[in-house]
Amino acid sequence: EAIRVADLAHQMSLKSNEIIKVLFNLGVMATINSSLDLDTATLVASEFGYEVEKVGFSEENYLVPAEIDSPESLLPRPPVVTIMGHVDHGKTSLLDAIRKTSVTSGEAGGITQHIGAYHVKTKRGDIVFLDTPGHEAFTAMRARGAQVTDLVVLVVAADDGVMEQTREAINHSKAAGVPILVAVNKIDKESANPDRVLQELASLGLQAETWGGDTVVGYVSAKTGQGLDELLELIALQAEILELKANPNKPARGRVVEAKLDKGRGPVATVLIQEGTLKQGDAFVCGVFAGRVRAFFNDQGKKVKEAGPSIPVEIQGFDGVPEAGEEFICLADEKAARRIAESRAIKQREKELAKQSRVTLETFLASTPNDSEAKVLNLVLKADVQGSLEAITDALVKLGTDKVRISVIHSGAGAITETDIMLAAASHAIILGFNVRPTAKVKEVAEREGVDIRFYDIIYKLVEEIKSAMAGMLAPVS
Ligand code: GDP
Repeated sequence: EAIRVADLAHQMSLKSNEIIKVLFNLGVMATINSSLDLDTATLVASEFGYEVEKVGFSEENYLVPAEIDSPESLLPRPPVVTIMGHVDHGKTSLLDAIRKTSVTSGEAGGITQHIGAYHVKTKRGDIVFLDTPGHEAFTAMRARGAQVTDLVVLVVAADDGVMEQTREAINHSKAAGVPILVAVNKIDKESANPDRVLQELASLGLQAETWGGDTVVGYVSAKTGQGLDELLELIALQAEILELKANPNKPARGRVVEAKLDKGRGPVATVLIQEGTLKQGDAFVCGVFAGRVRAFFNDQGKKVKEAGPSIPVEIQGFDGVPEAGEEFICLADEKAARRIAESRAIKQREKELAKQSRVTLETFLASTPNDSEAKVLNLVLKADVQGSLEAITDALVKLGTDKVRISVIHSGAGAITETDIMLAAASHAIILGFNVRPTAKVKEVAEREGVDIRFYDIIYKLVEEIKSAMAGMLAPVS
């Protein structure tokens, strides 16, 4: 525990010189940057009538909270898009096809690198795609507090229609409040039936514009490239409506999309810049790691000098491999960055020792003070068969009152999966399992994420328990 002469002087509204003089009289040679231990600092402070109090390190003293930007400082930024959909409906093929149409990939010397996100230029403007398709990665990021996606492109194969993971993707996007644009894929196939897809989507609340709704639909073939330009245009148009903006004129902040330990280069992380502009030499903190930006590269593997909002770059200069979803914050002082990282590491260890649940049925009612707004109990419901799901959902929704609203954010037939847990963690939801059991692995993830899972085999019991929880009378589970 130490304090710099300059900081001590600042705390007492004195000039550093006055402190250095006192130190000199005490026989201590010091400069403005010298560190004083607690005893020395106490002694010096007492000379000026001050007491030194030992306080814990606080991030807030170093990390200026994200400023509220004035409307004039906000400039348009490209949309960040995640592609979701059922397995084999063509997410990867579509990402690859779009990457190939990109103007930038034709640039001289540019070789497409997989850095976790890429940037395409279209006639209507730039678009950034996250390279890990699917709602699993999306929600895992969200559980870490990272919301980077502005728009979800839901891929539905025209020959297969809406499937289980299509429904999941819709629910995960809705839970995140991210708008959905539909890409009906595989229209080159003989068995393609786009109308059936629209019908199935409408029954899930996504009514196509052509049918009087507000869901934008593009028709593509990732295989032949048909409709790709139109799809990109629709995405750009949709982004325009969202009026996405950020302030590029300040130190950068962003989120880690992907990170790894590279044999030659050490830890590298792809960061999607969300605001400000990244420059070489910037000091940063990212989770429990800190560093200085040594070099950074775009998705063409080219070294770049600056990266602004929505731009993904691969950064070197980390002192460890950060987790995906972690916040990346540039700040003026590298020492402060290291201090913050250290204090976070200590906190993390403490937290691991005292694992706490995010939401449990017991804490749900105690959690927020009684106010005029209704509380919402978010639930993820899994049951062995579709019939039970419907019966349970009906019964649960009916339980809602003025004070407590029940929201089933996702329900599905089948076992409880890791993705269900991440969705629950991200949405502060509780998982109800009816006639299903989790695997050991899933139990472990639930414990790590602090998600409460409850099991039932009688509908009546399930409903009664939720009712009691709502009334705040639930006896703790043993
Ligand atoms: P993902 O699991 O959603 O990422 O799906 P993939 O991109 O791996 O595609 C699954 C399969 O569908 C592959 O065999 C692709 O070649 C095929 N496929 C993808 N898009 C199209 C398309 O537009 N037309 C046809 N005919 N096949 C496609």
